[in-house]
Amino acid sequence: MNGKSKQNVAKLRKAIENINPGYAINLMEVCGTHTMTIARSGIRDMLPQNVRLLSGPGCPVCVTSAGDIDKAIEYSKIPGAVLATFGDMIRVPGSRYSLSQARARGSDVRVVYSVYEALKIAESNPDRSVIFESIGFETTAPSVADAIIRAKENGIDNFYVLCLNKTVPRVLRVLSSSDEVRINGFILPGHVSAIIGVRPYRFLASEYGINGIISGFDTEDVLLTIAGLLKHIRDGEAVIENQYSRVVREDGNTAALSLLYGVFEPCDTAWRGIGTIPGSGLKIKDEYGSYDAEKRFGISVTDTHEPRGCRCGDVLRGIIDPQDCPLFGKSCTPDRPVGPCMVSSEGSCGIWYRERKAL
Ligand code: SF4
Repeated sequence: MNGKSKQNVAKLRKAIENINPGYAINLMEVCGTHTMTIARSGIRDMLPQNVRLLSGPGCPVCVTSAGDIDKAIEYSKIPGAVLATFGDMIRVPGSRYSLSQARARGSDVRVVYSVYEALKIAESNPDRSVIFESIGFETTAPSVADAIIRAKENGIDNFYVLCLNKTVPRVLRVLSSSDEVRINGFILPGHVSAIIGVRPYRFLASEYGINGIISGFDTEDVLLTIAGLLKHIRDGEAVIENQYSRVVREDGNTAALSLLYGVFEPCDTAWRGIGTIPGSGLKIKDEYGSYDAEKRFGISVTDTHEPRGCRCGDVLRGIIDPQDCPLFGKSCTPDRPVGPCMVSSEGSCGIWYRERKAL
C-alpha cells in the first residue's frame, strides 16, 4: 500500500469510528475476492468491536453440494469419458471421496483453466466424451454459454456440460428472510454485478429493509463500502448503492446477459449447507440440449451427505466464523481439507487458516 492509500485508509477508519451507530451490526460479503481482501488487509481488526463481518456464500466451489460432487464423480466413471474441471474442484470431498481420488482409481479427470480448454480437448479427441463440470455464478456462465454455441457452430458433438452454475440474488433473498442471523447490510459482489447490474438487488432494500452496496476490491473500496453501509444503518435508511460504478452499470452487461439467457434458463438447485433454492440454478435450454451432460447420460446419485463434522453450511450462512468449527486447523487444514471452504482459494476457512498462519 503506498503512502496515499495509507492516508486514505486512516481517514476511512476514522470515518467508520465516527459513523458507528454503536449497537451490534452484521455485514455480509458474498464474494470470495472480497473475503480475501478483508483477510489480507486486516479489515476485521480495523473495525469497531460491534461491527461483525460475515463471509457468505460467495465462493462457487464452497456452495457446490456434496451431491453434485458425487454426481461429477459418477460422470467421470463413464467409459471413455474425460471429466474436465477447475483446479479447486478436484480436491473437494464428496460424500465418500473426491475427483482427485476418482482419478487415482482410474477416471480421466483433467484440470482446465477455462471452458474453452475443455472444448479444445473435445475437438482434439472426437472419440471421447468430454464433460465440463461447470461451476460459478453469473460471472462465468456467459463464457460457458459461448462455448456451447461454438460447439454447435463447429459441429463438436462430443462436448457436454454438467451445469452446476448458480445465480446470486435468490440466495440473498433466502439469507435475508432467515431468522438465524440478522444481516444489516450486504457488501455486494463486484464481478457478478458487472454482469447483472444493480437492479436485481433492489428487493433487499424494498422488501427486507436491508442495505447493500456493490463494492470494488481494494482495501479502500471495501472500507468505503463499510462506511456507507454503517451510515445508512445509522440513519435508518434502506438503499442499494453502486460504489463500483467504474465497472458496474445499472443494467449490467446486456450482451453477456443475452448470451447467458440465450443458452441457459433458471432451475432449482441445491446449495451446500443451505438447501435447494427455487430458480437459483441454470440449466441448458432444450435448443442446446444435446450439450447437456445430464440429458445425454442421465446419471443421478442417492445417499449423499456432507462430510462428517464439517460445518461449511453454518459458515456459509454466517452462523459461525471458520475458527468456530471444531475441525478448523485440527483435522481440517488446506493440506487435508474436510470441507470445500478449506479447499478453495476463495473459501473462508482456507483464507482464515492461511492468514492466521501468516500472522
Ligand atoms: S474448518 Fe473444515 S470442516 Fe470446518 S467448516 Fe471449514 S471446511 Fe468445513
